[in-house]
Amino acid sequence: MSDVILKPGKVKPVRNRHPWIFSGAIQRIKGNPANGDIVNILDTRSRFLARGYLNRLSQITVRILTWNDDENIDEDFFLRRLQNAIAARSALKKAPDTNAFRLCYGESDLIPGLIVDRYEEHLILQALTMGIERWKECIADLLLDLLHPQSIYERSDVPSRRKEGLPLTAGSLRGSEPPDLVETKENGHRFLVDIKKGQKTGFYLDQRENRRKVSLYCKEARVLNCFAYTGGFSVYAAAAGAISVDNVDSSIGALEIASQNMALNGFEQSSAQYTTGDVFQLLRDYGHEGRTFDLIILDPPKFAPSQGKVAAACRGYKDINLLAMRILKPGGILATFSCSSLINTSLFQKVLFGASVDAGRDVHIIEYLSQGSDHPVLLTFPESAYLKGLLCRVH
Ligand code: SAH
Repeated sequence: MSDVILKPGKVKPVRNRHPWIFSGAIQRIKGNPANGDIVNILDTRSRFLARGYLNRLSQITVRILTWNDDENIDEDFFLRRLQNAIAARSALKKAPDTNAFRLCYGESDLIPGLIVDRYEEHLILQALTMGIERWKECIADLLLDLLHPQSIYERSDVPSRRKEGLPLTAGSLRGSEPPDLVETKENGHRFLVDIKKGQKTGFYLDQRENRRKVSLYCKEARVLNCFAYTGGFSVYAAAAGAISVDNVDSSIGALEIASQNMALNGFEQSSAQYTTGDVFQLLRDYGHEGRTFDLIILDPPKFAPSQGKVAAACRGYKDINLLAMRILKPGGILATFSCSSLINTSLFQKVLFGASVDAGRDVHIIEYLSQGSDHPVLLTFPESAYLKGLLCRVH
């Protein structure tokens, strides 16, 4: 096995069990390992620090799999890791009214680069890195043995694979070809999930608990669900007794499924509207038209993909939150989210503060929200905390 020697000043994060080693931390690589190979991480005095997989094409040149010198990276290693990840979701697996959740959340489950989501009897796998690409077939076999799903379908059509020097790919890995739309249950609600072409692996599983929490405020409310995707929040809102639910999204395909999801749960189409468009523009239009709502959900895509985009992202978040506050009835509820891991809760709260001052509204935070328990935050890897939400009352 080849060795990666770290620069003297760059050892501490590895000792603190951060799983990423950036190219700038590496003094030299001994031997001639191929990208994707397992390597040992050593300090300049050749002391073992960790073991992981290498990819020189990525700025994250090594992702660590273990800090234990006695632990080999083989099939048994992945079996143990997968068993741990599955065991950690046992409560969700037993929940009779939910059958869609994340089974493996990459670095947080100590398998960097691997995402596995479960939808009913189907597993969706994403191999995000070259290291995991190497072990993909082995991991698929292990998942088949451990869980006996009807199918394992790959959704490695994620643009970040290009940074790893990998092609984008999707298709059946094991079992029978899954249907285009898989019907799942979440907290007793039924959802059609487009596992083959939908965003992420088809559904925003990370919002499960937040959809339930927000629904508690939806009774007799006129709800505006911005960035509605396939209507996750909308179905919960209708089930909780909302008077009307307006869905806005830029994706016409997503809104078509949103409408099917409302029907699947028995909600009258007359109380729901679906508008394809840009939330920034539509919120402005609604303001000019004098339209108001009792509850607004803002769940935009990641605005800050890199550090250089944080300032612009904050302006974007401020803009939509200000526009939403302006069209909320006094005492109305704003459920506002950011899934940019580079924007932490305190910065997001500052953005909301700025929006509230400009809107001239008094805003109370009534609950801090985050990602679901199947997306656990690993303390040594703060990047795993990405979803934050503020449930606010706007006076
Ligand atoms: N709340 C959803 C997930 C939202 S994901 C759920 O619970 O399932 C973000 C959504 O925003 C995507 O569906 C994407 O199509 C949409 N989107 C991105 N930019 C947009 C824009 N400027 N205006 C409207 N929708 C947008």
